[in-house]
Amino acid sequence: MFLVGAGPGDPGLMTVRAVALIAAADVILYDRLIPESALAGARAQAELIDVGKVGGGEQVPQDVTTALMLEKAQSGLQVVRLKGGDPFVFGRGGEEALACVAAGVPFEVVPAVTSGIAAPAYAGIPVTQRGITSAVAFVTGHEDPDKPETLIDWPALAAFPGTLCFYMGLRTLDRIAAQLVAGGRPADEPVAVVMRGTYGDQRSVRGTLADIAEVAREAGIRAPAITVVGGVAGLHDELGWLKAARPLGGLTVAVTRARAQASGIAATLGGLGATVVEAPAIRIEPLATEVPSLEGYDLIVFTSVNAVRQLFARVRDARALAGATVAAIGPGTLAELRRHGVAADVVPERSISEAVLEELSARGPWRRVLVPRAQEAREVLPDGLRAQGAEVDVLPLYRTVAEELTEDRRAAALGADYLCFTSASSVTYFQEAAGTLAGPRLVTIGPVTSDAVRALGFDPHVEATEHDPDGIVAALVADAAERA
Ligand code: SAH
Repeated sequence: MFLVGAGPGDPGLMTVRAVALIAAADVILYDRLIPESALAGARAQAELIDVGKVGGGEQVPQDVTTALMLEKAQSGLQVVRLKGGDPFVFGRGGEEALACVAAGVPFEVVPAVTSGIAAPAYAGIPVTQRGITSAVAFVTGHEDPDKPETLIDWPALAAFPGTLCFYMGLRTLDRIAAQLVAGGRPADEPVAVVMRGTYGDQRSVRGTLADIAEVAREAGIRAPAITVVGGVAGLHDELGWLKAARPLGGLTVAVTRARAQASGIAATLGGLGATVVEAPAIRIEPLATEVPSLEGYDLIVFTSVNAVRQLFARVRDARALAGATVAAIGPGTLAELRRHGVAADVVPERSISEAVLEELSARGPWRRVLVPRAQEAREVLPDGLRAQGAEVDVLPLYRTVAEELTEDRRAAALGADYLCFTSASSVTYFQEAAGTLAGPRLVTIGPVTSDAVRALGFDPHVEATEHDPDGIVAALVADAAERA
C-alpha cells in the first residue's frame, strides 16, 4: 500500500517516486483534486477507482474507501492511494495509515508538494520571508458554513506570529477574516486568494482582511483555493511571475497535426500554460513505393519530417545518400535528418518554396534532383528546379488521409480558444470531419495554409511569420499577449 501525494496540479510538480509508483500500480484509488494528467502513466490494465468527493459532498464515504484499499492490498495487489497535494496535509492520509496499521497492511508514505505552499509560490508569495515573517501555519477551514467551527481556536490563531495559509474555507472567507480582525489582526493586513494554484488556469486576487471576501466574490474565485494571510501576501503583485512564464495560461489550444507529430508542439504549448486538445485531422499512410538507387542524384531535397522518416523507413543505410547534396527545408526536417545521421548541406533560411528555389539556384546548377515527399503536394519546387535546367524525379512516399474525429474531440477543438493548422491538408480534413472551422481563433503555419482556410470561407486570425511549429507557437503567444 502506497499513500502517495500527487502534488497541487502542475504535472511537473509530481515527485519522481509518485510517477514511478503510478506506472507500476495494479490499483489506484484517487481523489478528485489530483493533476488532470496524473493517471496518464498508469498501466492499461490498472484498475482506476475514483473515490473523490464532488462539490464537498461525500461521493465515496471514507470508511468505504479505507475498506476498499485494504481489501485490494490484502489480495496481493500493488495499491496506490493517490491524493492531491501532500497525503498527510489535510488529506486524511494519517487516518488511512492508522487503518493500515490496524489491519496489519504494510504501507509507505510518499510526501509531496502541498498546495498551501505551491499555490502561493505560483502567485509570487513566499510563505516565509526574512524581515516579514519567520513562521507559517497551515489551517483548514470548513467549506460548510453550517458546521460548527469548534476546531479552530480563533483568538490563538489571530495571535499567531506569522503567515496563515487556509485550505478550504472559501465560502466562509468573510467570517474567517472577521474572526481574525476580532482577534486583533489589523484590518489592512494583506491577504491573497489563489484559485486552482499551479494549474494552467490559476487565478489569484489580492486584498486585505477588510475586503478580501468581497474581492474574491467579485472576481468569481471558486474552490479549490488557498487563502494566504500575512505581510508576505503583499508580495503578490511584485513577485508574480506566472504570466510571464506561462503566457498561454488559461487558454485552450487545439492542435490538428497527425498524432505522431503532435506531441512536440503539444508539449511546447503545455509548457507555456495552455491546455492542449489534440484533434488530429490527418494521418500519414505510407505508399508502397520502391526507392531507386540514390547514387545518380546530385541533389536530394527533403521538404518535410515525414519525407525523411518515410525515406529512412525504406533506406536503412545513411551512406546511400553519401554522393548527393542534401537540402532540408524547415528546422523540423533538419532535425529529423540529423536523427538519421545526416547533416544537411543546404538549409534555406525561409521555408517557402519560392525562397528555397532562389537559394538552391544560387548553389546550383543541379543535374539530377530527387524530391521525396507526399503524393499530393504543390509542384512549385519540382517545376522551379526544372526551370533551372535540372532533371527532377518526384518520389511520392506517403499520403495524408483523413483521421476520424470523435464527437468529444470535435466539441473540444471547436470550443478551444485557438485552433492550429500546420498544413493545408489538415485544414481540409478537419473541416470535413468537424463540419466547420467556426468558433476558435484560427492559427496557420503560413500563407498556403491560410489560403486553404480562406477557400473554405473562413478568415485566419493569426498567421505564423516563421513557417514551422515554433513559429506557430510564437505567433500564438504574440496574439494572446495582444488580446490579454
Ligand atoms: N492534501 C492537500 C490538501 C487537501 S484539502 C494538499 O496538500 O494540498 C483540499 C484543499 O486543498 C482544497 O479545498 C484547497 O483549499 C486546497 N487545494 C488543493 N489543491 C489546490 C490547488 N491546486 N490550488 C489551490 N488550493 C488547492
